[in-house]
Amino acid sequence: MKILLKNGSIKGEKVLDILIENDKIIKIGAPNTIKDVEAEIVDLTGLIVLPGLVDLHTHLREPGREDAETISTGSAAAAKGGYTAVHAMANTLPVADTAGVVEQVWNLGKSVGLVDVYPVGAVTIGLLGENLAELSAMADSKARVRIFSDDGNCVSDPVLMRRALEYVKAFNGVIAQHAQEPRLTQNAQMNESTLSGQLGLTGWPAVAEEAIVARDVLLTEHVQSKLHVCHASTAGTVEILRWAKDKKVNVTAEVTPHHLFLSQIHCESYDAKFKVNPPLRRVEDVTELRNALAQGIIDVVATDHAPHPREDKEGEWNSAAFGMTGLETALAVVATAMIDTKLMTWSDVARVMSEKPAEIGQLNEHGRPIAENEIANLCIIDPNASWKVDAKDTHSLSTNNPFDGMTLKSKVVHTIFRGKFSMKSGQVQK
Ligand SMILES: [Zn+2]
Repeated sequence: MKILLKNGSIKGEKVLDILIENDKIIKIGAPNTIKDVEAEIVDLTGLIVLPGLVDLHTHLREPGREDAETISTGSAAAAKGGYTAVHAMANTLPVADTAGVVEQVWNLGKSVGLVDVYPVGAVTIGLLGENLAELSAMADSKARVRIFSDDGNCVSDPVLMRRALEYVKAFNGVIAQHAQEPRLTQNAQMNESTLSGQLGLTGWPAVAEEAIVARDVLLTEHVQSKLHVCHASTAGTVEILRWAKDKKVNVTAEVTPHHLFLSQIHCESYDAKFKVNPPLRRVEDVTELRNALAQGIIDVVATDHAPHPREDKEGEWNSAAFGMTGLETALAVVATAMIDTKLMTWSDVARVMSEKPAEIGQLNEHGRPIAENEIANLCIIDPNASWKVDAKDTHSLSTNNPFDGMTLKSKVVHTIFRGKFSMKSGQVQK
């Protein structure tokens, strides 16, 4: 089984041919210098080749909410979006807080085989914020968990957060925090601002995120551990991260495609497809988040793909679920927000959507250089495409994509997972 990719531009730079055999890149050379009569030839003229995308923050909903998403449908959405690895968040039913549950998720991911599924382990039992889960048993399991998060909930108790940070040092783990001070965000519905007052929706103040990020940075420094900040959404968080990185605290951060592209203005529609946690912020925050990503203060883009069935998103804003899908649109949103605006290059996109996330997740076979003897995990993009998002045209079981009807630049055309097409010319290969 051989594939010869011809005339692809590697990370938007050099044009080269790539020969893949079984799961590996076996040869790379100048155009038309590689001859192989057995190989399937695929012409990539005008297209860009990146390492396969890696998501640090995906909600696959299985086990427990198979009406919203399954590991199979979520994997297909990931392949369609150019991903070769995703980290599945722990807020399932049952919660992924034991070796048994993380191994179940790991095994289901393997059996689907469209993308590597790496389970995230819960920090506390049942995500209740009371007692630490069996972190080392999850780390030692077949799923080899390295990222732990109560995402959906904040580990708000400082003593528990400190213990978790100390505990994961034994196996070089990282605590990924959903930073939300619970008392400051009771019944919160959207960003706290003049607009939330006008709309009559309870505010979710920026300080509720920033207070936790600041506290966690200090705790991380105090115990010399590793922290990852999930979905940074405010200019204030960026300031704290800049300070922490200056001080060489071991902290990384992610931003979502929706926080790079949408603002609280969308809430004026009262359309709950724009309801998300943390909420869409001010235009000034969007600008700061883009700059921080370009400057490396924010390390990665993570989708926070959060599928919900229609009945949970329809109806009144106050009763609708928080969350948006994003695996299939992430690359195009980032390209529109960051490349079209000349804030970043394709090589930067490879860094923030593949290389850095793989490093944070400690994955050896993703986010690697496009080079001979490397595993062939690749994402191939048409940088000149312009397309209108149709939320119904999805592999996800849910259609709560906020970009529905918007026009985006660039499109993923092929995904190669471990040497085989998992998505070819827009078609997921099942
Ligand atoms: Zn979260």
